[in-house]
Parts: sequence; C-alpha cells; structure tokens
Amino acid sequence: MTDTQQTITVIRGDGIGPEIMDATLSVLDHLNNTRSLGLAYDFQLAGLAAIDETGDLLPEATIESIDRNKVALKSPLTTPVGGGFKSLNVALRSHFDLYANVRPAISFKGSLSRYEGIDLITVRENTEGAYLAEGAYTAPDGSRAESKMIATRKGCERIVRYAFDLARRCGRKEVTVVHKANILKDVTGLFLKVAHEVAAEYPEIECQDMIVDNTAMQLVMRPEQFDVIVTTNLFGDIISDLCAGLVGGLGLAPGANIGQHHAMFEAVHGSAPDIAGQGIANPCALLLASAQMLEHLDHHSVAADLRAAIASAVAAADRTTPDLGGSGRTDTFAQAIIERLD
Ligand code: ATP
Repeated sequence: MTDTQQTITVIRGDGIGPEIMDATLSVLDHLNNTRSLGLAYDFQLAGLAAIDETGDLLPEATIESIDRNKVALKSPLTTPVGGGFKSLNVALRSHFDLYANVRPAISFKGSLSRYEGIDLITVRENTEGAYLAEGAYTAPDGSRAESKMIATRKGCERIVRYAFDLARRCGRKEVTVVHKANILKDVTGLFLKVAHEVAAEYPEIECQDMIVDNTAMQLVMRPEQFDVIVTTNLFGDIISDLCAGLVGGLGLAPGANIGQHHAMFEAVHGSAPDIAGQGIANPCALLLASAQMLEHLDHHSVAADLRAAIASAVAAADRTTPDLGGSGRTDTFAQAIIERLD
C-alpha cells in the first residue's frame, strides 16, 4: 500500500506490442485499484509507431520521460534497417547505462517445457563485451571483418556485484560465473578474475565458475542445478534465450534492464510480426516483466501474487494462448489472470 504516486513511462511498441501491453495494463490497473499501488502511466512512442507519428524512431520526449520517471515498461520495438539505429533496445540501454540485464527463467506447470523445477536468474552484462563492436569494420571487398571485444574492471565488477547482491536479497544460495577464460584469456579472463574477487565479499553465497560451452550442455542436461548465472554480454544473450526455451519459450520470458538511476522492463521476445493483430499473443512475458517492475518498486507481495496468478492460470490451461497449447486470446488470458488475483 502506498500514498505516493509512481509514474511509469509506457511504450506500447510495434507488432504484438500494443496487444500485450493493453492486456498487461488491464492486469496492472486491477492491481492498482485493489492494492493502492499509486501507479500512473506516461505513454510515449518509440519504434515504427514513433516514425509514423513524429518522423523520429526514438523521440526526445520519450528519452525525457524515462529520464524523469526513472522506470519504463516497454513492449517490443521494430528497428527498421537504415533508420539510424542498429537496435533501439541497445540504444536505450546504452543511453541510460542500463548495465544489468536480469532474466528469470521459472518452470510453469502446464507450459510446453520438457523440464520441471527450473528457477534460475541470468544476469547478463549489458553495456560492453562483444556487442560494443568498437572499431567494427568490413573490408570493402568483403575479405575481412573485425570488431573489438572490450571488458573493463568497472564493467565486470558492477555486474558481478549486482548478481551477488541479487542473490543475497532473494535468499539464493549460489552464483555461477560463466566465461571462456581458457581461450579468450584476456577479455573473459578479466571477467573471471574480478568475479572471484567480488565473490570473496559474499562468503555466504557459493560461487562456482563454468566455461560457457559446458554451461550450455549442463543447462540442457540438468538445468535445475543452476540458481543465479552471471556472465558477459554475448554469452548472456545466448544463455538467457536457451533458458527461455527450457521453461516453455519466449512467451514466458521477461527481462529487466537495470542501471544506477533508471530501469526498463520488457518481454525478451520481439515484435512477432507473424502473429501481430490477431489477438493471440501471449502477454505473460510482459506481465512477468511487470512483476519484476513491481519488485523494483518495492511492491514485493504484489509481485509474488501476480506471479502466482500467472502460474495458476497456465497450470489450469485457463484461456491460455496458442503458444501454450490453448485456444484463448491475449485479452481473455489476461482476464483469467485477473480473476485469480481476487
Ligand atoms: P523481431 O524481428 O521483432 O525480433 P521475430 O519474429 O524475429 O521479431 P520474435 O518476435 O522474438 O522474433 O518471435 C519469434 C517467434 O516466437 C515467432 O514465431 C513469434 O510468433 C513467436 N512469439 C514471440 N513472442 C510471442 C508471444 N508473446 N506470444 C506468442 N508467440 C510469440
């Protein structure tokens, strides 16, 4: 319960974005009314929708709104080729220095997953490593291409510290540092070295390190052994999608991008143009991202209730969308979740 108002920048996005955002806001509105959360929305544009209305892919008003409100809830965006951005998501992450990409993967009974008992969080470094692509260059004749991979002590330290603080806050027991220091001795070697230094400050949390290729195999063989994974940008991108697949696909995969001052919550999946406008997109990834947002805003019990309502609707196959094997629609699925919150 709160008397203070928290305004959130809301970006409805492209493709299935508006559909899953409307469903998500219907659930958040319900929580706002019944649990006095004091949430208000500041709707802003980005992506194709922004081009259509303002001629700008990422309008200044959107940047200013996130800067002011500090918290954004964002649907998937389409970045058109030749629009001046390689990726709008990357542009937003780097503008606000959202260095920690936090992706929980939790087994839901009733999903199409092959596994049970997975409850892990991937913490991916979001601002450096291979994706900085400094000095990226392709020879005009196509004979050679290059790009730098950069790690800094500051970048490694803050992401590993974030992962250990998260583990401590959530009562988790173990952090696995995923690297390739046997081959990429400098860049991921620094990551591993700094990770062990930071881990020493958290004696109550076990720290193991694991080479990324072994991690991929271990995740497929015995995913329930993992608790919190912390890794670099490139490895984290791949590992976290693998984890989404382990728990039933992108429709159940949320992500938070956290910086020192700002935070942006989103579904891991893209704009899914193949099903846009049909009203059958699964809203759960954005709803689970909203649960992360509620935790960030210190509404811990409301976040837990929202997760439980989603889990219960999925388990009962109550109006679930086709990606989960159901024949429900985006809005009716949201309604099934709302009914479980009462
Ligand atoms: P983009 O170019 O925006 O990344 P994409 O289609 O390449 O879009 P995704 O949007 O991530 O990539 O979708 C991959 C597949 O998963 C598509 O077949 C899509 O229909 C499906 N999908 C993604 N999100 C959802 C969702 N929320 N509900 C149901 N299916 C989804």
